[in-house]
Amino acid sequence: MINVREVTKRFGIGASAVTALETVSLDVPEGSFFTLLGPSGCGKTTLLRLIAGFELPSEGEIALDGQEIGHLPPHKRPVNTVFQNYALFPHMTVARNIGFGLEMLNRPKAEIAAAIDDMLNLVQMGEFASRRVDQLSGGQQQRVALARALAPRPKVLLLDEPLSALDLKLRKGMQSELKRLQSETGITFVFVTHDQGEALAMSDQIAVMSAGRVQQVGTPQQIYTAPQSRFVADFIGDTNIVAADLLGYDGAQARISFFGGEPVLANAASDGLPPGVVYVALRPETLTVCAASNAAAVLRGTVLDSSYFGAGSQMRVRLQNGTEIQVQVAEPSPAGSEIGLIPETSMLHVLAD
Ligand code: ATP
Repeated sequence: MINVREVTKRFGIGASAVTALETVSLDVPEGSFFTLLGPSGCGKTTLLRLIAGFELPSEGEIALDGQEIGHLPPHKRPVNTVFQNYALFPHMTVARNIGFGLEMLNRPKAEIAAAIDDMLNLVQMGEFASRRVDQLSGGQQQRVALARALAPRPKVLLLDEPLSALDLKLRKGMQSELKRLQSETGITFVFVTHDQGEALAMSDQIAVMSAGRVQQVGTPQQIYTAPQSRFVADFIGDTNIVAADLLGYDGAQARISFFGGEPVLANAASDGLPPGVVYVALRPETLTVCAASNAAAVLRGTVLDSSYFGAGSQMRVRLQNGTEIQVQVAEPSPAGSEIGLIPETSMLHVLAD
């Protein structure tokens, strides 16, 4: 529904120019919860502001429903934004804040009143309709900001880190609330966050960004279980990244060996890497511990220590070459033990860079 085509955005000119986005292309499906995820400064907000129309691309095109919208000012786009700081009118009541956008559009009074009622129900704030916004808690203000942005029924709602001002417990509650609002309204949400847990929990699709580029787009499961680059593997969850020798390819699978051991097959983001050193992502929960003498062990190492986290323990293990990795187990082995590790081969991924 939203097509971003080779968009580059530069701020400033000459030597002091900053390239915030570099040939970014993305397709956001209609009715989806789509998340832009990446570290601070990677260009997430800039991309959101380009879709909203607050900034214009230096190069490239943005289309909505097949129509180029690059030339339209923000208020002519069927898009609304929820900002980090909510930007509500503190002295106005909840109801007036929610109706404000519709008032600006000169909609009939009866229609505005009906929309306010609908929105108050949707965000479960009916009893607060006549309360001033500055007399609400952070979570309540967040709900009003959402209701105000949803009231004109935009085709697309852009959300720039809308939960960052809330404490952890409220944040978790609002995550499910936002997901519910999105599926009940069917409106396309483009959500910006630097929190990978939040992105995995809420999204239909995630675009992982770094340094002005999109690194990978996929469902939360694809991003988590099949990262394609070192950046994505490292950014999403506790991933071990271990060097291995790429020996060749068996069809789409890579034949690799850790520290000169028996070759194993692994998934590969690309089948075009030359033989030599590659990096492999190993999730801590996909490694099985065996005796160091077991011939099936693909990796061997020494247990350094372990920490209990409720559902199990995380062991820190030093491999033959000194690389430290994390291994998730039900029963940790004592510190100093020599152990073997067998990775779940479907979860082994050779990273493209
Ligand atoms: P954060 O999570 O910290 O908000 P972000 O991923 O949203 O970061 P952006 O705000 O999009 O990142 O910024 C991307 C890059 O562009 C940064 O290097 C930033 O300093 C730069 N930038 C953004 N807006 C401007 C501007 N108006 N003028 C100059 N540089 C800018």
